[in-house]
Amino acid sequence: LILAEKVSKRYGAVEVLKGIDLSVARGEVVCLIGPSGSGKSTFLRCINHLEKIDSGALYVDGELIGYRREGNKLYELKDAEVAAKRAEIGMVFQNFALFSHMTVLENIIEAPIHVKGERRQDAVERARTLLERVGLDSKVSAYPRELSGGQKQRVAIARALAMRPKLMLFDEPTSALDPELVGEVLDVMRALAADGMTMVVVTHEMGFAREVGNAVAFMDGGRIVEYGPPRAIFENPQQARTQAFLSKVL
Ligand code: ATP
Ligand code: MG
Repeated sequence: LILAEKVSKRYGAVEVLKGIDLSVARGEVVCLIGPSGSGKSTFLRCINHLEKIDSGALYVDGELIGYRREGNKLYELKDAEVAAKRAEIGMVFQNFALFSHMTVLENIIEAPIHVKGERRQDAVERARTLLERVGLDSKVSAYPRELSGGQKQRVAIARALAMRPKLMLFDEPTSALDPELVGEVLDVMRALAADGMTMVVVTHEMGFAREVGNAVAFMDGGRIVEYGPPRAIFENPQQARTQAFLSKVL
């Protein structure tokens, strides 16, 4: 579903991604781990059309991100076309990014109605189903400020799912949470994975990566230094940099 070939990205003179190769199959969960500044968020942002890559190629569902193919010519997407493509990808951030002046329900139905043109009644019905799924059906009318961090993050996940995305990107979804609230968010993500959602998850939760990830990619210095099944990465890392990182976080 996602294919990255030699993806490079620079900010000015600084090359932040230095030739990322990665493929994520439909239904697969890939966890990205690695030290601060290694390029994990930047890579997610490239997949989500928030950044343009400088070289290499990045495909979602067989389509080159940012371009439209006509015959054998490629055309750069216009802003509205990019927005439509982005709507197919769900993203969950560390800091929830809920609309603070809207209730939980309004947060969830906003994009389905205004971006996808769904009927309000359908959007509301789906929002209620999703809130039930994340265990928050009692909070439809609450405002974000009335929720715990874990509840906010579950609303953010429900909001992303309301767009019926073909894949979900998570950027440290539990890093801003009090420790006792991490589990409830990971449980929702675990259920989503079991449901067959394709997911790329940047996380420091090694337990989650080990248990739920089909593969783990260790990034350092803009490269994927090591990639493999969680068991291999955690129990038998081959690269010195992976070993050094894991010895600090495990
Ligand atoms: P963290 O674990 O701290 O979130 P990360 O692996 O997500 O780190 P990125 O946020 O992708 O790392 O950043 C990679 C590098 O790119 C860093 O050196 C960062 O300073 C730089 N960078 C990120 N965004 C920008 C930007 N908009 N302009 C310039 N440099 C940037
Ligand atoms: Mg980051």
